Amino acid sequence: MKQRTHTWLAIRAIGLLEDAGVAIGLVKILKPNITSTAIGAWIPDLQDSKLGSGDIDNHVLKMKPYKGYQKKRFTLKKADLFKKLGKHRKMRDFIDDWDSVLGSSWWNDPYKADPTPGEHIPGRAMALTTTLIDQLILGDPDIASKVPGSVSFAHQVNSNARSRSEQVATYFFMLSHFVADACQPCHCDARRLSGYSNGVHKELEAHWNKIVGTYFEKSKLTANTDTPYKVLKAARAVDSKFDITFDSSVPDLVSGDTWLEMMFVCRAAFAMASIIANPTDFPYSSTKLTKFKDVFDPAVVPELLDDLDKAVMHDAVLNIAIIWKEVWSTFK
Ligand SMILES: [Zn+2]
Repeated sequence: MKQRTHTWLAIRAIGLLEDAGVAIGLVKILKPNITSTAIGAWIPDLQDSKLGSGDIDNHVLKMKPYKGYQKKRFTLKKADLFKKLGKHRKMRDFIDDWDSVLGSSWWNDPYKADPTPGEHIPGRAMALTTTLIDQLILGDPDIASKVPGSVSFAHQVNSNARSRSEQVATYFFMLSHFVADACQPCHCDARRLSGYSNGVHKELEAHWNKIVGTYFEKSKLTANTDTPYKVLKAARAVDSKFDITFDSSVPDLVSGDTWLEMMFVCRAAFAMASIIANPTDFPYSSTKLTKFKDVFDPAVVPELLDDLDKAVMHDAVLNIAIIWKEVWSTFK
């Protein structure tokens, strides 16, 4: 996803936590630092961060049919995926509404990604989740006043070594980047058509950026002097442009940890990629340039794109809030 969209998704997730009345200490850390630390939401896409967590393999989990011996392990039936997604995710609704184009046989086949070990979205989200828990444990007195519980050795840690709210907020925004990218179907599909420069991927992200609007553009946000209240209000105002309504609650993880939760979100995103560009019509072997209009022809399926926008944007915000809440829930 592009910078503007990443920024909106993460800021909107702060609003969702606030509206749900959960992880309020975290909201108090993030909210005053929104405009100064939102750069964290784009850092993984910036060239100089490619040596670290921003390596391109960390943004994707590109699945394709699996030909090995562990067929059962890499097959996931629709009902089982739906259980893992829970009732609150709109990706589940999208798949339920549209998967007749795939047919039941699609769900009987095994699929697997082949990333460099550990270098993929769930791995990156898990790593940042653990890093953030450590940062909160080692927080400076301002952070410590917001994190539940106490840290007996805190006074022994050099005051310059303790994390400040700006650092913590920047890393929470970085975590949001990976969670949001997991919801982009093209990040989870190994076909050439889902490559960034092969048409539909880039055009889809430009389409989302246009809807999000320029308020969240990098150049504007860094110079933004609006109060955090106003910034959150602007973020909430984007909901209607995607025709999204959020519940006033943020559910717990379904699968027990960030890694597994993101694995299942990626699997859902892969199913969505296979729905918008059915592998029967767009085979894995194809090297053809696939344009946006090839898969979202308004004359044929006018609602497909609207439904996709809604599901991806809703779930990206919700998943960020779920994973952030999970980090915060470590502290009781
Ligand atoms: Zn990215």
